[in-house]
Amino acid sequence: MEILLDKIIKKNKIKTKFGTVASYIPGLNKAKKEDLGICLLDMDGNKYMCGNYNKKFTIQSVSKPIALMLAMLDNGVDYVFSKVGTEPTGDAFNSIIRLETATVKKPYNPMINAGAIAVSSMIKGENKEDKFKRLLEFFKLITENNTLTFNEEIYSGENRTGHKNRAMAYFMKDQGIIESSVEDGLDVYFKQCSIEVTAVDLAMIGMFLARNGSLSTGEKIISDYEAKAIKSLMMTCGMYDGSGEFALKVGIPSKSGVGGGIMSVLPNKLGIGIYGPSLDKKGNSIGGDGILEDLSKKLNLSIF
Ligand code: GLU
Repeated sequence: MEILLDKIIKKNKIKTKFGTVASYIPGLNKAKKEDLGICLLDMDGNKYMCGNYNKKFTIQSVSKPIALMLAMLDNGVDYVFSKVGTEPTGDAFNSIIRLETATVKKPYNPMINAGAIAVSSMIKGENKEDKFKRLLEFFKLITENNTLTFNEEIYSGENRTGHKNRAMAYFMKDQGIIESSVEDGLDVYFKQCSIEVTAVDLAMIGMFLARNGSLSTGEKIISDYEAKAIKSLMMTCGMYDGSGEFALKVGIPSKSGVGGGIMSVLPNKLGIGIYGPSLDKKGNSIGGDGILEDLSKKLNLSIF
């Protein structure tokens, strides 16, 4: 397996030249474009790692499914989906347009920024610090990594410059989608996006979902239904407006983030974490996308 991973990483490293590192959030552009790493975990407890699997980066949108899990636990699945839809958009992750034009007045799904901000605003807590503290504890539980923290510089940079996210959040407050404090919701969202992880942490999250919401100890954290909901949304909406093509080429439920992470789940089989900060035009890791396509073809991993 390690030999295969090494070969696939070498092949896809070439692709990283053709992408760009995200720069719209201050600090993200410090990443090294050519970095590429993977961690793959299987149900028997085997762990395979290759390349820059140990490098820390901010989780960004890969945090969306995890925040969704806690919002479901806090509020119930029905309440969450009464406020946020379950349909792909075909628009960019940060698009604002459908918030007003959609016939049903709610963000299309929890994997785009608008939907994710609405979800983060549902996390329960006394105040914004307490809400984020609960969410960070939940991240630690799922990754089985007690050392997770968030990157202050990236958080404050996004808080300072995230005008479009702020605009969407206030619009959703006007529509009654966000019921709690808008600024609390945004603060939780910006902080969760700046949690620092490695490809290993992402593989642990993938493995948690592969086990339908159980930790490695067997402890059940979310219901089978909740785990299925997350995986379906990852499959239909997880790779931004590239989700359809990704389903066709790769066929593995995945979630990407502009920090370069991809978290993938092969139900009952594998958890995969990838890091590669060079992004394609849609905001997906260009090398990561290539790695998953090659792995899927070589090992026949498509769920379809
Ligand atoms: N924090 C980023 C934003 O809101 C996350 C985007 C992403 O990773 O897709 O723009």
